[in-house]
Amino acid sequence: MLPNKHISLLTLMKALFPFMFFFIFSCTHAQRTETTVQSEWNLTESQWQSKLTELEYYVIREKGTERAYSGAYWDNKALGIYTCKACAQPLFKSQTKYESGTGWPSFWGPISTENVSVEEDYSLGIIRSEVLCARCGGHLGHVFPDGPKPTGLRYCLNSASLQFEPSAPKN
Ligand SMILES: [Zn+2]
Repeated sequence: MLPNKHISLLTLMKALFPFMFFFIFSCTHAQRTETTVQSEWNLTESQWQSKLTELEYYVIREKGTERAYSGAYWDNKALGIYTCKACAQPLFKSQTKYESGTGWPSFWGPISTENVSVEEDYSLGIIRSEVLCARCGGHLGHVFPDGPKPTGLRYCLNSASLQFEPSAPKN
């Protein structure tokens, strides 16, 4: 017969298994990169506060989340590109945007994986993958492994972090 502490260790491991599985799964599916903020975007918090609105500052600099269905772009179906609200770096194309039903603008992939970075976020007591602008380090949202083809990823972003630039109409 096993001593109690061995049984409880086994029980603990069984309980943790789904979390370990999720962690491994998300590691293999989301590209993980380090954010190296470019020096010209290494602003003080008061400089950011004067550059951004209150909501933009809360989302981009304080890693907040806008209310679902409250942002400007969750239902935007126009053609164009989404740039970083803070530094104007191109981030996502409308062609990769899809209807996720979450109330936040959702994309299956960025314009370039060099333009966004992904870091682990433990803020809600669970492991999530935070998406940031690779140039200014601004918070964009999170990426989840439940998106559509071809990547299977869902970049769930805040409208407040983005600026939509519509495509020029074709002649
Ligand atoms: Zn940026």
